[in-house]
Amino acid sequence: MNTTNRTLDWFFRGIASAPSFTACWIWGGRPTRDGYGTFGKATRAHRRAYELAVGPIPKGLVIDHLCETRLCVNPLHLRATTQRHNVLRSVRTMPNVNAGKTHCPSGHPYDEANTYHRPAGGRDCRACSRRKRAA
Ligand SMILES: [Zn+2]
Ligand SMILES: [Zn+2]
Repeated sequence: MNTTNRTLDWFFRGIASAPSFTACWIWGGRPTRDGYGTFGKATRAHRRAYELAVGPIPKGLVIDHLCETRLCVNPLHLRATTQRHNVLRSVRTMPNVNAGKTHCPSGHPYDEANTYHRPAGGRDCRACSRRKRAA
């Protein structure tokens, strides 16, 4: 008996909806408390999907959803990454973290006189910009 084919067969039966090859493949069955699909007792469906499509997940890496849909098991939407990167990605979506900083990396104050507000958002230290231009 071919274990790989059997696993693939089980796997594809677990997908509740896959409108196209590139769309999110939504895993059926009951999700875990934190919203991931499960394959068998202990395996997360998206991790299984990655293993089936790409190969073993390197030690220490987690599988990140590029589409941010936890129930999605489309290997095209999955990427092996470090936990740290995953955390940083969620931080990015929080309100501008830098807005809380009162000084630039060189220690100049972010006050009205020294702060250049970029039209596209964000800000620069005028003292540092001047120094960069002079250099
Ligand atoms: Zn997806
Ligand atoms: Zn500065």
